[in-house]
Amino acid sequence: MSVMALAKALGITLRHFFSKPVTIPYPDAPVPLKPRFHGRHVLTRHPDGLEKCIGCSLCAAACPAYAIYVEPAENDPENPVSPGERYAKVYEINMLRCIFCGNCEEACPTGAIVLGYEFELADYRYADFVYTKADLLVDTVGSKPQRREAERLGKPVKLGFQVPYVREALEGVKYE
Ligand code: SF4
Ligand code: SF4
Repeated sequence: MSVMALAKALGITLRHFFSKPVTIPYPDAPVPLKPRFHGRHVLTRHPDGLEKCIGCSLCAAACPAYAIYVEPAENDPENPVSPGERYAKVYEINMLRCIFCGNCEEACPTGAIVLGYEFELADYRYADFVYTKADLLVDTVGSKPQRREAERLGKPVKLGFQVPYVREALEGVKYE
């Protein structure tokens, strides 16, 4: 090895020696995520509060992992849940089956189901991986274990990531 090559290699070593470490002390410090990150699904609402989901089941049909279960019901014209004729009476996603491919988001005609940023879904019991409407609607912050922990401590849900941007589809979702 020539002296020049040795000096060049040493230069690279020294440059990295003095550069800032890229390690993030997660979970004490939040991790930055990319804009197109696929995390836990969110069921969004219209600005007037009505649910965007119309219970059409196209997302379930598009899901390659058979992770989605939708049970539609007719809207009460006096007190509609969604702007359509029907709404999703039951909407469930089995997170153990989901491969976070985003097909459901692509298939949805109303932009109701979108993949958000939450990724801390680890849990203990099979049943706790089935997320219902109550767990998915846009007002709900945090996965089931995160919300359980927050309730136990009497503190707000602590998310392990930061998102300095909000995707258009997720407008209205507040990440703190
Ligand atoms: S992200 Fe993919 S696997 Fe997961 S529920 Fe949607 S379509 Fe199914
Ligand atoms: S989330 Fe979208 S595709 Fe799925 S049932 Fe609701 S409206 Fe249809």
